[in-house]
Formats: sequence, structure tokens, C-alpha cells
Amino acid sequence: MADRMQARRASPALVLGLIAMAVVGSALAQHHLAQRPKTLRLYVFDCGVIKGLDPGLFNLKKEELAETELAVPCYLVVDPKGTLMWDVGAIPDTAFKDDHTPVTQSYFTATRTLKSQLAEIGYAPTDITYLGLSHYHGDHVANSNEFASSTWLVRQVERDAMFADKPPALSDPHNYNLLIDSKTVILTTDEYDVFGDGKVTIKFAPGHTPGHQVLILKLAKTGNVMLAGDLYHYPEERRLNRIPTFEFNKDESLASRAMIEEYVQSTNTQLWIEHDYVGNSKLKKSPQYYD
Ligand SMILES: [Zn+2]
Repeated sequence: MADRMQARRASPALVLGLIAMAVVGSALAQHHLAQRPKTLRLYVFDCGVIKGLDPGLFNLKKEELAETELAVPCYLVVDPKGTLMWDVGAIPDTAFKDDHTPVTQSYFTATRTLKSQLAEIGYAPTDITYLGLSHYHGDHVANSNEFASSTWLVRQVERDAMFADKPPALSDPHNYNLLIDSKTVILTTDEYDVFGDGKVTIKFAPGHTPGHQVLILKLAKTGNVMLAGDLYHYPEERRLNRIPTFEFNKDESLASRAMIEEYVQSTNTQLWIEHDYVGNSKLKKSPQYYD
């Protein structure tokens, strides 16, 4: 009887202990799995929307556009050899009161923090190996300071513009100022192989900003995908070949577009316009991923 009582008393503690071990074990396993998958993955995060911009800024008329809103995605690339954050949103996580209340700043609205979306798949910003920004505009760099401990992959002309005495147009240096001390790799070649396995490549495509760049992924099942930065904003811009009014160098933008169009055609690469609202709404969002 005493034995049975003891067994009964011990049992809930034992069960709790086992549950705790299982939870910790599975969290560790999940974290580990998230850190080192065997094949390349691309996660797409929801970093908000841009509403109310005048299509005239893009040399387009409202009636030429199927949708005037723009999406703001952020991306995490997970390679067996490490991780790369590509573009980090329009609104810094620090502007959120909590994870449930949307935040609006000028034309931008975000409903979720980037950090919470990373945490959902087992990452903290400090886990991320590399930070890549398509360019310095405010809707691509808002959470840069969160990734100051990552190695920053940037071209000299872009970095120089970001830290010039006169800050660049359409950006807030307070959101990226910590990158000045980050470990940095200055990209000097037309193409840069991020992990050395030929699967993740940053390609120079200047014009929108002096060091604007795009990201090319060779995914095993999805195929070749290009995250095209702001080479285009609307799909109609691509079809009509209109150039925004606020390009750093319009001729360079036109040349980059021609070069990239030839590249995607000859390499059978899908071009994803990052801001394309309709295109983005059809993408799988994290915790789902492309592989
Ligand atoms: Zn831009």
C-alpha cells in the first residue's frame, strides 16, 4: 500500500518531468533542424504593406495598375552552410508596442514584428550569418540594426551613400547606423557566391540606388528564383518598362533591367518582384518555405 501511494505520488512529478524533457528536446531538435537543413530553403516573411503612394512616382497611371498597394516582404535564406537575411522591412520591430497591434508610419503598415516571425521557426537575429540588403531605401532596411552582429554583404558605393554626411534620400539612417561597425564584406564582383556552394548569389544591378543588388537562389524543387529588389515595383512597370521618378541613375536602371531580363531568360529563373502585392499574396509564408 505504501509503495503504491509512493508510486502514485511520484507519478505526476515523473510525468511532468517527462513532458518537460520532451518539450525541451523537441524545441532543441526543432532549433537544430531549423539551423542546419540538408538543402537550401527560402522563407518569406510578412513585413507589411505600402498604401497610398501616387502611381505617378513610378511614371504610371492608377488605371494602368491592377493593384496600387505594394507588399513589403522580408526573406530568410537557410543554406546548409549558414543563413542570410535579405531585406528587413519598412518598420522597425522597436516601433511595436506588442506583437498584436499593427503599426503605421507614413505610407507603411506592418502587423507583425520580424523577430517574432524568425522566432516561430527557431531563429533569433543574432543567429543569422549574413545580412544582405537589396538597397538602402527605408522600406528595405528598417530592422538592419537587429542584424548588426551578422556579416554585412554590401557594395562600397552603397555603403558610402548610406554613411555620407548627407543621408541618402528615402531612408532613415537611425535604422541602420549600427552596421557601420558590423563585420562587412565589400562585394566587388558582378556576382558573389554567398555560401561558396553556388546556390545563393548576389548580383549587382545598379540604378535604383548606386549599389542596388538582386539575390538569385537555386532551389532544388522550386527551381531558380530571383528576389529582384526594386528593379521593378509593379508588374506593369516590367511590361511597360517605365522607370520610377526617383531612381539614383535612370540609365543604369535601364541597363540593369535589360541585363537582368536576359539573365532570367537564359538561366530559366523566375523573377519575383518583391513589392508585387498580388504576386506576393500567392507566395507561401513562413513557417512554410520554398526548397
Ligand atoms: Zn527602393
